[in-house]
Amino acid sequence: MSEYPRTAIELRDWFPTEQACREYLVRLRWPDGVACPDCGTRDVWSMTPPFYRCARCSYDFTVTAGTLFADTHKPLRLWFEAIWYVTNQKSGASALGVQRVLGLGSYRTAWNWLHKLRRAMVRPGRDRLSGVVEVDETFLGGPRPGKRGRGAAGKTLVLVAAQADGRKIGRIRLTRIGDASAASLEPAVRQAVEQGTRIQTDDWLGYRGLSALGYRHDVIQPAAELGQNLLPRVNLAVSLLKRWLLGTHQGAVRPSHLDYYLDEFTFRFNRRTSRSRGLLFYRLLHQAVTLKPVLAKDLVGGRTFARSKNTMNSG
Ligand SMILES: [Zn+2]
Repeated sequence: MSEYPRTAIELRDWFPTEQACREYLVRLRWPDGVACPDCGTRDVWSMTPPFYRCARCSYDFTVTAGTLFADTHKPLRLWFEAIWYVTNQKSGASALGVQRVLGLGSYRTAWNWLHKLRRAMVRPGRDRLSGVVEVDETFLGGPRPGKRGRGAAGKTLVLVAAQADGRKIGRIRLTRIGDASAASLEPAVRQAVEQGTRIQTDDWLGYRGLSALGYRHDVIQPAAELGQNLLPRVNLAVSLLKRWLLGTHQGAVRPSHLDYYLDEFTFRFNRRTSRSRGLLFYRLLHQAVTLKPVLAKDLVGGRTFARSKNTMNSG
């Protein structure tokens, strides 16, 4: 039997009831059998659905306890529909789109759901890039191009690492950084790229220490020919990212939420060749039940919720 539904019709056949959704989550969360989230034992009793009771510590729990779906008052079926929709939108879903498709009463609920799902798009301890990797930084937001190495008002600097796959791009990593100094660039590179990897950058000062960090560092020198694309993979990834921020989100990305959007873009980009949308659904759902719950107050950064436009322009 297949591990996931492949079409919208199959989705509905697979998950006609809340119980069917829960059973699927049980298989994803506890492939070796239900385990107590508190003490970890598999000595667990099935009580009246959806409850389990730990035979060792008497803890009562459900399959959604301690996951992204904890404390949700909406049916799991609606969440599954949301995840199906989000993973089937080729270029990403907006909160308004989610609200419309699911018939959610409030824009804010749709927005909170999207942000919870974006958190699930980052795999903890995900693999770092290796092989041959192009690295550069780019500014997002703000009206004017900024000066490198110094902060530019209203702008966010992002480190972009793109792995080569022949002449094409393999996977990417995007990391927000404070500035383009070596002190900011080096930790971001180490987090994104495996040691020993061949890294290609331009001749910016901030990258001069990469060899000392155990990388094989190639400095790509500008040739006599003007306008030559020195780091073609990074440049392509950056232009797709900027187009996506402007297109899908009409540039309405607040700098404080940029990390979530970078994660979503990375999730989609790195799985763009997946033939099966069902596989994306499966992966996102799997990550959703192995994550800690996200509280609404963490999503909005404790500040007033605003549906502002044009707070982030592509620079
Ligand atoms: Zn227990």
